[in-house]
Amino acid sequence: MTTRIAKQVIDEIHAHAGSTYPDECCGLLIADKDKRIIESMRVANAYPGPKHDRYDIDPLELFKADRAISHRGFSIAGVYHSHPDYPATLSKFDLEHSFPWYSYIVVSVPKGKAGDTKSWIPSEDRKSVSEEQIEVVE
Ligand SMILES: [Zn+2]
Repeated sequence: MTTRIAKQVIDEIHAHAGSTYPDECCGLLIADKDKRIIESMRVANAYPGPKHDRYDIDPLELFKADRAISHRGFSIAGVYHSHPDYPATLSKFDLEHSFPWYSYIVVSVPKGKAGDTKSWIPSEDRKSVSEEQIEVVE
């Protein structure tokens, strides 16, 4: 599996991830009809506790964003978030709180600088995860 992402979206995600360090950032990945991720949308990290190793997206905010994005003829392809000083893997907590119809992009942010970036697809039972290749396009 490969996901195609506009270079500008990767840059936006990296900028967001650096700016919220040492907290996790999160946001939505927006795809066009060809399943190409063409935009990102920043979302507040709604996790009520310490945010350096957790994130949460408010369901109402997700619902509203989904409706607005659908109106424009696009769709939400997935969610991105950052891992400050931690590898770009999908954690057990992430997996248990995932939706299996989304791609999950995780950015490692060692010492505040966004680096390793990976995309993950949860299995339908959310018990395992597989990596998908990221193809950066213009
Ligand atoms: Zn995570």
